[in-house]
Amino acid sequence: MGEEFADVVIVGGGIAGLATALALKRVGINGVLVLEKADELRATGSALTLFPNAWRALNALGVAHKLAPLYPPIQRGSVTLISSGVTLPLSVPGDNDGNGMGVRCVHRKALLQALADELPSRTIRFGCHVASIETLSDSSFALIRLGDGSSIKTKVLIGCDGVNSVVAQWLGLSAPVLAGRLAVRGLASYGGHGHKLGHEALQFVGDGLKGGIVPVNDHELYWFLTYKSTPQEVELVGQPELIRKSVAEKTAEKFPTKFSEIIRNTDLSTLTLAQLKLRCPWDLIFRDLTRGNVAVAGDGMHPMTPDLGQGGCSALEDAIFLGRNLGEAFQRNNFDGSSVEESLKKYARERKWRAAGLISASYFSGWIQGHNGWFVQLVRDKLLSKIFYSRGVRSLDYDCGELPVVSSG
Ligand SMILES: Cc1cc2nc3c(=O)[nH]c(=O)nc-3n(C[C@H](O)[C@H](O)[C@H](O)COP(=O)(O)OP(=O)(O)OC[C@H]3O[C@@H](n4cnc5c(N)ncnc54)[C@H](O)[C@@H]3O)c2cc1C
Repeated sequence: MGEEFADVVIVGGGIAGLATALALKRVGINGVLVLEKADELRATGSALTLFPNAWRALNALGVAHKLAPLYPPIQRGSVTLISSGVTLPLSVPGDNDGNGMGVRCVHRKALLQALADELPSRTIRFGCHVASIETLSDSSFALIRLGDGSSIKTKVLIGCDGVNSVVAQWLGLSAPVLAGRLAVRGLASYGGHGHKLGHEALQFVGDGLKGGIVPVNDHELYWFLTYKSTPQEVELVGQPELIRKSVAEKTAEKFPTKFSEIIRNTDLSTLTLAQLKLRCPWDLIFRDLTRGNVAVAGDGMHPMTPDLGQGGCSALEDAIFLGRNLGEAFQRNNFDGSSVEESLKKYARERKWRAAGLISASYFSGWIQGHNGWFVQLVRDKLLSKIFYSRGVRSLDYDCGELPVVSSG
């Protein structure tokens, strides 16, 4: 089989991969190839919540204005502590910089499509499974071996290949660990006058369960439930009918009847069950996140539990940082010499503390919200409610900055 060449190869066409490809295009790098093993844009999980940090990144990528009109902002939120029945207001990060985006729940497919639509045709190559990576004796190139036996030589390789990243493995990062919890997600649809929940997000926490309902629009509600993992529950992966039954039983006595109604209104094709995984934060701090001209982004770099809804949001931030750093290296000397290696090292330095912080905060938030002991309950209900729910989580309002404007002349 022959060997081809691309300036930049991105492994994985999920949120991180497509956003990175678009960031590179916007800083003037055109020879980008995205290799995606699926046969089309893959959107496991049907919807996701995007916080202000994600909207700023989407703004820098020039796609926020395409998505925002389709998805009304969440205006209010509340969290009900199951043990005490107390309901507290949930702080919804707002529109601090006046860009009008706030927090919105979007269809995953729409997000991927909006990013893909901005890329030159033939940037994404579907059905392309990356099997392994090698460095060449001339260390300014990496060689990517594909499942069909062919190979691609590149000056820059970015692994955006998700939680089981082959690129992260090649870099020597430890495999992600199981968080000991499972997450079910689904999308409930309402015809006629819609779901009538308005633009309010609801959470229910305690007794080892954490559930949430987030309006996508007037007719669709995205919902999730996380709980302790057991071998019997793991067996249910891929069996939506049984997943629905299990969730209905778990929540029947504890959650409001609205939750049962939502589960009933959920299209089984949108229902997924996943084991939650995370990368140990110290792996990001103490290990090399780059080697030569190879780096990772998104879940490939920082898989985290979904408790703060930040995995996808921070993948979008990564794209902006990669765009800025690689754009500079490209403009300076067309990726020659050691410029790629230096720019990727700078990217890793800029991202590792934030990513490690998000992994830790997400894990801690999920752990404390799902635990039952009296001490944990006391701390959660009396103290953390003030920190997490009332004052909001500042990190969701992070500003990744802009991409440099590149003249086309
Ligand atoms: C229950 C749950 C709820 C969540 N809720 C939110 C939320 O509300 N907000 C939020 O921001 N985040 C949320 N997340 C996290 C978010 O889903 C992920 O962080 C995000 O999808 C990561 O994007 P990615 O592109 O890095 O990885 P992925 O979406 O996993 O994409 C990786 C891509 O790489 C491809 N690929 C993998 N291996 C190869 C290979 N060898 N060769 C070629 N292609 C390959 C895959 O097919 C895939 O398309 C949630 C996660 C879970 C589990």
